[in-house]
Amino acid sequence: MAEGETIFAKIVRGEIPCDKVYEDERAVAFRDIHPAAPSHILVIPKEPLPSLLEAGPEHEALLGHLLVVATEVVRLEGLAEQGFRVVVNNGKSAGQEVMHLHLHVLAGRPMGWPPG
Ligand code: AMP
Repeated sequence: MAEGETIFAKIVRGEIPCDKVYEDERAVAFRDIHPAAPSHILVIPKEPLPSLLEAGPEHEALLGHLLVVATEVVRLEGLAEQGFRVVVNNGKSAGQEVMHLHLHVLAGRPMGWPPG
């Protein structure tokens, strides 16, 4: 992989498979390969933005779009009534492993608070 290249960039380009649930011109949503809940879907921008911290004012519209896509995915998957959680891990101590911004959409089990 080229420097800075991530597995999610390869998914965006269709170079490795994913279980896709939604796609538009700016975003892709697919099932997490190691689900942490009965429903666990990742929403990612096609643009390779490494993390939330690296988003600037020029990314405002994209960040809003990713949240709208998350709710679209929730509706498509029939999760709206039961409740869901949207999580963004930023940095190592928060558990970010893939340096390509992604929203975790989690549903299907009770969610503790505060999160672990
Ligand atoms: P994070 O720890 O916040 O960076 O989340 C990365 C997530 O990506 C984890 O929940 C992984 O299970 C998931 N993941 C890694 N590789 C793949 C893949 N090829 N397809 C789907 N999900 C993946």
